[in-house]
This record gives sequence, C-alpha cells and structure tokens, in this order.
Amino acid sequence: MGLGTVRVGTEHVYDDLREVSAALYKKALTDLPPDVRQSVGAAHDREEGSARRRLQVMVKAIETSDETGIIVCQDTGICVFYVEIGTELPVNGARLTRALREGIALASERHSLRSSIVHPLTRENRQDNTGAGVPAVHVGFADGGDGLDVLLIPKGSGSENMSFLTMLSPADGQDGVKKYILDRVIEAGPRPCPPTIVGVGLGGTADQCAALAKKATLRPVGQPHPEPEIAEFERRMLEAINATGIGPQGLGGATTAFAVHVEYAWTHISMNPVALNIQCWRGERARAVVGSDGTVTYGY
Ligand code: SF4
Repeated sequence: MGLGTVRVGTEHVYDDLREVSAALYKKALTDLPPDVRQSVGAAHDREEGSARRRLQVMVKAIETSDETGIIVCQDTGICVFYVEIGTELPVNGARLTRALREGIALASERHSLRSSIVHPLTRENRQDNTGAGVPAVHVGFADGGDGLDVLLIPKGSGSENMSFLTMLSPADGQDGVKKYILDRVIEAGPRPCPPTIVGVGLGGTADQCAALAKKATLRPVGQPHPEPEIAEFERRMLEAINATGIGPQGLGGATTAFAVHVEYAWTHISMNPVALNIQCWRGERARAVVGSDGTVTYGY
C-alpha cells in the first residue's frame, strides 16, 4: 500500500502526493474494486459453457494479480483523475496536478509499466504514461471541506475506443435515447471486453454530456441512481443490453453488462444529447482520501 500520511501544510505535501498518485496507479491496475470482483464471480456462477470459461479466465486473472502483484490486464490505460479539494485545505491546485502527473511517471518507472501514451500526430512516446493533457485531471471543490479526495481510473483503450456522442432531436424522445444506447452497445460488440459497465450521459452540452457518461462509469456496480425514475431507466436498459446475448468477451451469454449507470444534466429546449462511455470488465478504479491531519485512506 502507498504512503499512509501526507505532510499537509508543509512544502513536502506535493512530494507526498506524488507518492500517493504512484500508489493509486499501481493499486488501480492490480486490485480490482470489490463490486467488480463480486460481479465477475456472480456472472461466472450464472453462466454456462464458453461464457463461463471466459469468466473463469477473468477470475484467474484477478487471483493471479492478487498473488503476484502483476497487473490484471496488459493495458496500463490512459489515466484520468477526479479530484475534490476541500476549500479549507491549504493546497495549490496547479502543484497538486503536477504531483499527480509525476506520480504516474514515477509508478511507470518503479513498476516497469508499459507506456501507453503517445502524441496524437507524431505518436512519440515519452515512456512514462504522461504527455500533454495526460493524465486528465478533473478538479472539483468541496465547500468548507478540509480534506482531499483523489480518484484514479487508468482507462483501457479497448473500452475507451467505444465512446459515442450524438445530438438527438427532442422529438426522438425516450424511445430514441434507448435505441441509440442499445444500437451502440451492439455496434461495440466484443471490443470493449464485456461484461461492461455502460456509462450514459444525458443532457447538458455536447462536452458536458460526454463527461457525464464517463463519470457514470465510476459509480460502484449495484448502486442504482438515487432518483427512482433514472434507476428504473438503468434497470430496463441493462435488461435490454443483456438480452442481446453478446455475452462475456462477445462469445455469447447472458451477461453483456454488469450495470448501466446514467448521469444527467438539464439541457436546451431544442437539444437532446446522449453519450456513452463504456468501462471494460476490469472496472479499475482506486481512491485516496486525505484527511485534514494528513492521514491517507485508500479505497475505491
Ligand atoms: S478494454 Fe479493459 S480488459 Fe480489454 S484489453 Fe483494455 S484494459 Fe484489458
């Protein structure tokens, strides 16, 4: 496990947060969240034939990673941080962002992680899993809070490549939204390494909608949306997606997705944006919560 305390209020806090970031990267790649483990296990017990055999491979990958510390899947992903800074915490956002980025580079060197990050045109690879704009860091502020919440997802390319955005017409209504989601999951087929978590963004602006879809994938499996109407929409979409029979790794079966998660924002009267961001079976995420006394608690 990573650093247990950071020296809040001192110049050393950024060195310590670099170590926390490095620990989070290793943890996310090697220690899958309990809800994902439970989902893989339950699907394994439910499925038969080739679907069960694919799930058996996933169970084995998790066990091997637990025993050896080897990453669960070869893809080291593209790192995305979600940071919430308590407004009472004396932290400089720019230096924090730099520390998180340096932590990714540090972990890459320390654990010999494959560098997956390249320049979009020249394909130059710095060999440290960073580059301009990577890791992506989303920052929010907790009014009156005195701690720090850092969540990391190193998103695998197989599932990130299966990202979609459209601007439907309001006249398309809920049926149009449901059809778009289902059609995209069918189009994605085996490529996002199902069973997946299907993140859906509804409303907002185009960029906001895409961000909501990714945010939706962060919610633990088994935790429906707090609003009953949205939770019901999630449940029905999951049912429809699993009825496609795409199944684990696209080889057929009853479990194409572990969950459908929706996040929404209100939108313009003449807009109806819908976005999908799919998370693969690995469902990697790791979290560090830093208290006002500097104590670090690691989780998911
Ligand atoms: S999509 Fe996920 S499970 Fe598939 S190769 Fe990438 S990281 Fe691995």
